[in-house]
Amino acid sequence: MNVDVLVVGAGLAGLRTATLLARHGHDVLLAERRPRLDGAIRTTGIFVRRTLDDFDLPPQCLGPPIRRVVLYPPSRRRPVTLVSERDEYRVGDMAALYADAARTAAAAGVRVLLGTRYEGRGRSSYLLVGPDGPLRVRARFVVGADGARSRVARDLALDRNEHLLTGAEEVFPVSASDRPPTFHCVVDPALAPGYLAWVVDDGRHAHVGVAGYVDRFPHGMRQALSRFSAAAPGLEGVERPGGDGEVERRGGPIPVGGVLRRISCVDGLLVGDAAGAVSPLTAGGLDPCLRLSEQAAAVLDDALRAGRPDALAHYDGASLRAHFRGRLALRHGLARVRTPVAAAAAFAVLRTRPGRAAARRILFGDGSFPNRPGQPSTT
Ligand SMILES: Cc1cc2nc3c(=O)[nH]c(=O)nc-3n(C[C@H](O)[C@H](O)[C@H](O)COP(=O)(O)OP(=O)(O)OC[C@H]3O[C@@H](n4cnc5c(N)ncnc54)[C@H](O)[C@@H]3O)c2cc1C
Repeated sequence: MNVDVLVVGAGLAGLRTATLLARHGHDVLLAERRPRLDGAIRTTGIFVRRTLDDFDLPPQCLGPPIRRVVLYPPSRRRPVTLVSERDEYRVGDMAALYADAARTAAAAGVRVLLGTRYEGRGRSSYLLVGPDGPLRVRARFVVGADGARSRVARDLALDRNEHLLTGAEEVFPVSASDRPPTFHCVVDPALAPGYLAWVVDDGRHAHVGVAGYVDRFPHGMRQALSRFSAAAPGLEGVERPGGDGEVERRGGPIPVGGVLRRISCVDGLLVGDAAGAVSPLTAGGLDPCLRLSEQAAAVLDDALRAGRPDALAHYDGASLRAHFRGRLALRHGLARVRTPVAAAAAFAVLRTRPGRAAARRILFGDGSFPNRPGQPSTT
């Protein structure tokens, strides 16, 4: 098969990039190893205000707005509550969002192959293996949208994510009540070493999760999640589903080392998690993956129109990375919170007026991933 662009991975980054390229009139093949896009979901799906403002996400696929964040120290005593005057977050129904994005891609002309794994690169073609067996694809460019441990990055000899957190969560329906939609975050290195444990309760679903450096969970991540889930803040008295089948389990790696420097070469480029496009501090990757996909599609469109693969050199992770120096420094700070005493000390700062102001800037700020190199931003 001959195509203009082979996109590997149908997460939001791959779906978005493929759709934009097809709308520019290019012949695009999108290969995804998952047989269904509503299975094996790897994200909580919290979208921040800037994404909701700038991208047309179907409103029926979004939960109720959340304005309230509660931050807890390990003791859970004297939590810090922050309430925004604006709607800050909405949790996506990710199965419905992926399905909608796949329909949009197909309508734009993208050929979507599900259950089809990218296996590697030959001398003049790429090897896919799908339900009907192997398929060799010749493509002018390949896009690695294949997540944090990108095989495409390896095959193109581009940079690869080395600084990773791992997250896991349980998702279950909750019945409506007068609880205000709330994002609860617990800073406790025993439960979530180097990151947070969270409960997101928007009144329709609860997401209960932990994330951290996988080798630092004292008794493993699974045990940390069940311990946290058993005493999750904000869910006291909330009825949990009876059967295990009603609880969806999600999880996966989260690259937090910042945008990788080398994310393109003459044969292709990386988007989304494959490019390390995740906020090093908040670990939010949905806004970055959508914005970086726009840049990738624009650069590939230029290269295809001009017939000049060197146009991809403009797609440069090093210049994007420069925006994240402050956040990378804060990530290293968070990684150093290794004991409950250190976490409690961080809360003493958080309870001061400047501490609360800084937390509000991080949680409710107007930043986003840069749309183009040189543009101010950062979440
Ligand atoms: C537990 C958890 C919770 C998170 N919560 C949030 C959140 O609430 N908000 C937020 O902003 N960010 C969150 N993130 C980060 C965010 O989900 C990611 O940054 C974002 O989804 C990345 O999208 P992507 O398209 O780049 O990658 P992915 O969504 O990982 O998509 C990659 C796709 O490539 C496919 N693939 C991989 N290898 C191959 C192959 N060889 N052949 C074919 N297909 C392949 C995979 O099956 C997958 O579908 C979370 C991450 C985790 C792990």
